[in-house]
Amino acid sequence: MYSSIRLRTMTSKGTQTVSLPKRHLKNPYCWLEPLCIFMLIALTCFYYVYDVFYVVPQLFGFLGQTLNFLICTWILYNIFGNLWACYRTTSSVNTLRYDQMQPVRGEEHLWRYCNECDRLMPPRVWHCKICNCCILKRDHHCSFTANCIGHNNQRYYIWLNFHLTFGAGLLQFYNFTMALRHGFRNDFWLPILLVEDALRPSRSDLLYSYLVRTIFYVNLVCLILPMLIFIYQILLVRSNAVSADSSDRKYDLGIGRNFAQVLGNRGFWTMLSPTMESPLPHEGIQWQSKHTV
Ligand SMILES: [Zn+2]
Ligand SMILES: [Zn+2]
Repeated sequence: MYSSIRLRTMTSKGTQTVSLPKRHLKNPYCWLEPLCIFMLIALTCFYYVYDVFYVVPQLFGFLGQTLNFLICTWILYNIFGNLWACYRTTSSVNTLRYDQMQPVRGEEHLWRYCNECDRLMPPRVWHCKICNCCILKRDHHCSFTANCIGHNNQRYYIWLNFHLTFGAGLLQFYNFTMALRHGFRNDFWLPILLVEDALRPSRSDLLYSYLVRTIFYVNLVCLILPMLIFIYQILLVRSNAVSADSSDRKYDLGIGRNFAQVLGNRGFWTMLSPTMESPLPHEGIQWQSKHTV
C-alpha cells in the first residue's frame, strides 16, 4: 500500500515544489510517526506553559520572569521552527535537476545503481525504505520529524536537538528547585516515596508531590535523549561521517569545512533561527574526499 505526497519543500537552493515519492504505508514506522510528533509537541507545550507561567513566577521577581519568558519563547520558536523545517526540507534525489542525475566525467566509478529507484545514484546516497526514495547523504530516518535526515536538513535536526537539550536543561533546574520544595531531598526516588506512602497514607500533599517528581523525571528523560543525539550528531559532523558508517573518515576535510557542509556559510550562527539563510557549499552530488584534496 502506497501513499503519494506532493509538497512545497525547502531545499538548500531555496523553496521549490517537488513531487515526493509515494511512502510505503505498510511500514510500521509510518504509523509510529504521528505518535512521536504528537508526544514531542505535547511535552514541549506542557513544559513551556507549566514552567514559564507556574514555576518561574514562584522562583523569580518581575525581571527574572521577563528574562525567562524571552529566553524560553526563543527556545520554543527554535524547537518548532527547526522541527517544521526538518519535516519540510527533503534531501530526496527528486530535488535534483535532470542534468544533475548524470555523473561528471571521471566520477562514473563513484556512482552506483539503486535497484528500488531503478536508476544511477550519486555517491553518499542511500535508499530509505520508509520514504521510498534515495536520500542525498542519508544519515537516518527520524520518526520525530517524519523525514529522512540528510544533506539538506541535517542543520535543522542538529539545532532541533540542541534547543530541546538547552530548553529541557534550563527547565530541569526550575523543576529540581520545585521538587526540593516538596521534600525531594528526603525521598529522592519515586519508589521510596511510594513505600513511604503505603506506611503513611495520611500525607495531604501526596498527589502534588507525586506530580512534581513525575514532571522532574520525565523532564530528565527529555533532557538526556536529545543531548545524546546532539553530541552524537556533532561527532559525526566533525568527521563528516553518517550514522550508517560512523567510523568512515574518507570525507573528513577538517573541522571547519566539515561543519560548513552541514550548517552552510553562516556556520554556527544558524543556531539563532531556522529562517536564517545559510546556503550549503554544494548540492550533495559531488563529494570531495580526503585523498582528492
Ligand atoms: Zn533508491
Ligand atoms: Zn526516510
